[in-house]
Amino acid sequence: MSELHKFLFDGLPVRGVIVRLTDAWTEILRRRAGNNATEAYAPEVRDMLGEMTAAAALMQANIKFDGALVLQIFGDGPVKVAVVEVQSDLALRATATVRPQVEPGTSLSQMVNVHNKGRCAITLDPKTKFPGQQPYQGVVPLFDDHGVPIEKLSAVLEHYMLQSEQLDTALVLAADDKVAAGLLIQRLPMAGAGNLAGSMVSRENEDQIGRNEDYNRIAVLASSLKREELLTLDVETILRRLFWEESVTRFEPLVGDSAPRFACNCSRERVGKMIEGLGREEAESIIAERGDIEVGCEFCGMQYVFDPIDAAQLFVQPVQILNSGPDAH
Ligand SMILES: [Zn+2]
Repeated sequence: MSELHKFLFDGLPVRGVIVRLTDAWTEILRRRAGNNATEAYAPEVRDMLGEMTAAAALMQANIKFDGALVLQIFGDGPVKVAVVEVQSDLALRATATVRPQVEPGTSLSQMVNVHNKGRCAITLDPKTKFPGQQPYQGVVPLFDDHGVPIEKLSAVLEHYMLQSEQLDTALVLAADDKVAAGLLIQRLPMAGAGNLAGSMVSRENEDQIGRNEDYNRIAVLASSLKREELLTLDVETILRRLFWEESVTRFEPLVGDSAPRFACNCSRERVGKMIEGLGREEAESIIAERGDIEVGCEFCGMQYVFDPIDAAQLFVQPVQILNSGPDAH
């Protein structure tokens, strides 16, 4: 079963989260393999998307935020886009669009950053927005400060956390066909005593970046975790092996119903809205050509079919309904 554990290092400005996705991850792979409209992922794409999924679950669990965290990579190679959405209750879904299929041994940059134009975006989309409110989005390139392509997703995201959030973060990620797992260690930003202004806090925090010895020691320990260990060992063993000399406070783990799990929030209604967005003319021309409009959800594989009558109803003006309703004025 999938699980997520949070912990704190006693008396130190350092916190951690570890996630292990098993059923949540294999469900995503199973649906992809069973989807006639898409091919199963090549192992290289699968592992990248699995690492993204683990990372997005870690980041969502690490913030107090009511809404969706969306982690996206817009690639300039065979992987056009890879996207993971994690809701605040840790319901998650993920998909990637790949053309053509990647060859064995393809590196991260060969998949998504062939011309150094790939981008990684993190969006926080609040559940309830005030009028006109836009989701918050941060974007980083897939190369380092010297323009050299980054070959590890964990390094891309560490770079993001430092650049966009001014947070020292160490990430270890791994995925295969059964498990997607990750460990996140982060230095807590320290607010100065009596310091209330947000900008002052972040400036003070900037001075601390890379300097806190406790964080550096723990981050080095975390980074010693090998891919194989993260994939095969249970959470208790990993934490004990890495941090046996540290004093760690554990929180109640999120397992079972509260654990990260696969869920897709696609619906016939939303697909209908999308077809409406195409406009009547476009919808009619698709029907003339194919007989109906069929839209598949890339996340879960669900197929939505709108026959000519269904489609025509989308474009019926709701005027009659308003006039005949009991609340009509
Ligand atoms: Zn769906």
